[in-house]
Amino acid sequence: MRFLFVILFLTSLNSCKNLNPNDEITFADNVVIAHRGAWKQHGLPENSIASLKHAIALNCTGSEFDVRMTADDVLILNHDNVYHELLIEETNYEELAKFRLSNGEVLPTLRDFILAGIKDNTTTGLVCEIKTSKSKERGQLIAKKVVELVNELNAGQFVASYISFDYDILKRIIELEPQAKTQYLNGTKTPEELHVDGISGLDYERHVLLDHPEWIQSAKELGLTLNVWTVNNQEDMDVFLANGFDFISTNEPELLFERASASPLNSGYKLVWSDEFNYNGKPDPTKWTYDYGFVANQEKQYYVDSLKNARVDNGHLIIEAHKEKVANKDYKNAEIKGWVKYKAEIDTAQYTSSRLKTEGLVEWKYGRIEVRAKLPKGRGMWPAIWMLGENRKEIGWPECGEIDIMEHVGYDNDTIHGTIHTKAYNHIIGTQKGKTIFIENPNEEFHVFVIEWTPGKIDFLLDGVVYNHIENEHKTTAEWPFDQNFYLILNVAVGGGWGGRKGIDDSIFPQQMIVDYVRVYQKLN
Ligand code: MG
Repeated sequence: MRFLFVILFLTSLNSCKNLNPNDEITFADNVVIAHRGAWKQHGLPENSIASLKHAIALNCTGSEFDVRMTADDVLILNHDNVYHELLIEETNYEELAKFRLSNGEVLPTLRDFILAGIKDNTTTGLVCEIKTSKSKERGQLIAKKVVELVNELNAGQFVASYISFDYDILKRIIELEPQAKTQYLNGTKTPEELHVDGISGLDYERHVLLDHPEWIQSAKELGLTLNVWTVNNQEDMDVFLANGFDFISTNEPELLFERASASPLNSGYKLVWSDEFNYNGKPDPTKWTYDYGFVANQEKQYYVDSLKNARVDNGHLIIEAHKEKVANKDYKNAEIKGWVKYKAEIDTAQYTSSRLKTEGLVEWKYGRIEVRAKLPKGRGMWPAIWMLGENRKEIGWPECGEIDIMEHVGYDNDTIHGTIHTKAYNHIIGTQKGKTIFIENPNEEFHVFVIEWTPGKIDFLLDGVVYNHIENEHKTTAEWPFDQNFYLILNVAVGGGWGGRKGIDDSIFPQQMIVDYVRVYQKLN
C-alpha cells in the first residue's frame, strides 16, 4: 500500500512538471537514427515535422535534425545556411517563412518541432545538431538558446543527443546542462580527447571510422557512444552493425531496419576478429602469414608473398595468380620425400600466386566465419576459403580436420563446394562430406561465404542459404575433429589434382580472388 502511494505521488509530481502528454520516453532498442528525419522513401522534405513524425512511426531510436538561428534569433530547422537564396543568419524568420517546405509545411521553428517531437512519442529520441554559426560567439549563443528552449518545454528527456561540428558548442552545452549527451561530428578528435573533454560520444563520417578501426575499439573501451554518418548502402550498414555501433545515421531507415534484423549480432554473435581491408599495401602482418613454394595437390602455382600476388587495395584483399616463371627453391631438396616428392622435381614453376593464413596468429573454435569475395575466372583456377585444425603439424592431415568454406574450380564456374574432411571422411578414400550450390556470376559480383560452426554442427551458407549441414555424430575425433581451434586460409591455386583436371587455360592470366572482408563472430557468454 505504501509502495502504491509512492508511485502515485511520483506520477503526480511528474505530470505537474511535464507540459507534454507523455510521462516518459524510452528510446527504442535499435541503432536506427533517421538522418534529417525519415524523409526519403515518402518524398518528404528533410528537417520537416512530417519527416520527424515518420521516424517516430518507424520506431527509430532517434531522429536527427539541423538547427540554425535567424537574424532575429529564431531557432529554425534547415540543413544549409541558405533557404530560398536567403542567408538564414542575416534574414528574419518572417521573411524566410514566406517560403513553405515542399509538402506545404511552414518552415519549422525549433519550438514547434520539439512540441511535435514530444507529442505521442514514446520511442524516438531527438538528435539535435547545432550547425556551425558565422561566428564562435553566435555559436555559443545558439547553444544557450537551444538548451533554454529544451528546458522551457521540459523536453530534456526527449533529447537523445546534441551533436555538432563545432567543438565549442558541445562544450558550452555540457557547461549549461552537465547531464546532456553530446557527440562530436567532425572526425578530428581521438576518442581519448573526447573522453578527457567530457563529450559523451563520437558521430563520425563513415570513411573516418573505416580508416581508424582502432578508434572503434578505444571508443568502446572508454564508454563513448559510437555513431556514424551517413550510411545509406547495405555494405556499409553491415560493417557498422558487425562492429557493434550504438547508432547509425541513415537516409534509408527502412533498409537499416532490414539489415539490423539480418545481422549476426541479432542472433547473439559478437564480432571477435575481422579484416575489412581498409588500408593499402601488404596484408596486415598481425593478421596474416603465408605459405611458400609448392604446397600440395600437385598444384602448379608457386606461392610467394609479393605485393603483386597479395595486396590490399581500394578496400579489398587481392590474391592474384600470374603466369610467370620462378625458380623452385626446393628443387632437388633431398629432404622432401613421400607423396609431396614432386615438389623437389620441378626446377622452375610456371605460375605464381599467394596463400594467406592466420596460422600461429589467431585460431578459433566454433563461430560464424564470414567472407565476402569475388572469384577468379577460367579453366585451371582453384580458389579456396578454408580452415585446418591447429594440430595439423603434430598429427597430420586428415586427422587434424579440414573445413572448406568455399571451393571453386574454374572449369565449373557456376558451382560452389562446401566440404569437411576428417580421418573418417576424406577425399583420399572418397568419403568426404561435401555439397554444392549453384552460384550466379561469381566472378563479377561479390558473394558471401559462411560457416556457422557449433559443438553440434557445421552449416555452410552461400549468400544466406544453407546448402550443407554436417551433424556431430558424437562418435570419435575421426568423425568430428572440430572441437579444437582451426585457422583460416585464403588461396588461389592453379591446376592441381582438382583445379587442373581439365587443364589450364594460359590465356586467362592474371586472375584474382578479391576479398571484401573476413569477419569472425562467436557467441560469448
Ligand atoms: Mg545534420
